[in-house]
Amino acid sequence: MSSASINSACLSSVSPAQSSSLRRPALRVFARLGSSSSPPSLIRNKPVFAAPAPIITPTLREDMGKESYEEAIAALQKLLSEKGDLKPVAASKVEQITAELQSPADGKPDFDPVERIKSGFIKFKKEKYDANPALYSELAKGQSPKFMVFACSDSRVCPSHVLDFQPGEAFVVRNVANIVPPYDQSKYSGTGAAIEYAVLHLKVSYIVVIGHSACGGIKGLLSFPFDGTSSTDFIEDWVKIALPAKNKTKAALPNADLPQLCAYCEKEAVNTSLGNLLTYPFVREGLVNKTLGLKGGYYDFVKGSFELWGLDFGLSSSFSVKDVATILHWKL
Ligand SMILES: [Zn+2]
Repeated sequence: MSSASINSACLSSVSPAQSSSLRRPALRVFARLGSSSSPPSLIRNKPVFAAPAPIITPTLREDMGKESYEEAIAALQKLLSEKGDLKPVAASKVEQITAELQSPADGKPDFDPVERIKSGFIKFKKEKYDANPALYSELAKGQSPKFMVFACSDSRVCPSHVLDFQPGEAFVVRNVANIVPPYDQSKYSGTGAAIEYAVLHLKVSYIVVIGHSACGGIKGLLSFPFDGTSSTDFIEDWVKIALPAKNKTKAALPNADLPQLCAYCEKEAVNTSLGNLLTYPFVREGLVNKTLGLKGGYYDFVKGSFELWGLDFGLSSSFSVKDVATILHWKL
C-alpha cells in the first residue's frame, strides 16, 4: 500500500516548528486532542493571532498516565540531544539545506500554519458565527444532533462539508477508513464512548457510516497480507477490523483488479461497520424500539455522487451491497 495515500496529518502532531521550546508543550497538544470535555484554551481564551508555542501550557491531568508521559518526554529529549550531537560540518550542511528548503525560491510563499488558522477563524467568525447569533446562542445551551456520522479521516471527505451539516446537526467520528469496530471495552473504548454518548445521551435518530472513493485505508486493507507480519504500528491492526469486507469482496470479484476491488470493498466495509454497530446493546435496543436507524453512505468524489442505503437486518444476517433494501443515488 502506498502509505502516502492515507491522510495521516493527524497522526503526526509534534510540530518541528516548536522544537526550540520543546519540552512538554508539543506532547501536551497531542494529549489535548483526545479531550472532549472542554475546548482547547488556545481558541477559547486567547486571541488567535497571538498563539505562539508558549501558549500551550504543560499541565498534567491525574488520569493522563504520568509514567508513559514522562517516558515520552525522555525519548523526545534523547532525540533532540542526538540531533544536537551532529558534527559541526554536518550541522552546517543541514542548516544550509534547511534554509534552502525554507526559502521561497519557486515563487511560492512559505506556508504559515498560524496565519492559515488565524485567517480561517476570522473568516468563520465574520461570515458564520457573527452572522447567525440565534443559532450560536442556541448551541451555547447544548446540542441535539439528529445524526451520528462515521466518516474517514481523509481530508477530502469532511461530512459537514459534503452534506452541508450545520453546527449542531451531526455528532461525528472520523478515523482511517470510517470503520466502526465491534463492541470491545478495552480495545475500542474511544469509539464505544462516542456511540454510547450519541445514542444514550444525545439520543441521535440515525447513525450513518459513510465510505468514499479512493480510500487509502481500504486500499491498505486489500493490500496488506495479514500473515502475521506487520509493517505498521497501528494501521494494519486497525483496518483488519474490516477483514470480512475484504473476504466478501474477493469472493464477489475473483478476477477484478485492485481499483475494482477497492471500489467494491469501500462499500462492503460500510456494511461490515453497520453490522458491528449491532454488537452495541444500546444500538440494538434503539433499533428494536425504533428510536434509532442505521444508514450506509458512499461519497464518490471522482464522479461527484453520493449513495445512501439502509439494510434490512430482519432478513439476512450477512450484509452485502446486494442486500440493500433501499438505495438512493444522486448524481448532480
Ligand atoms: Zn478513506
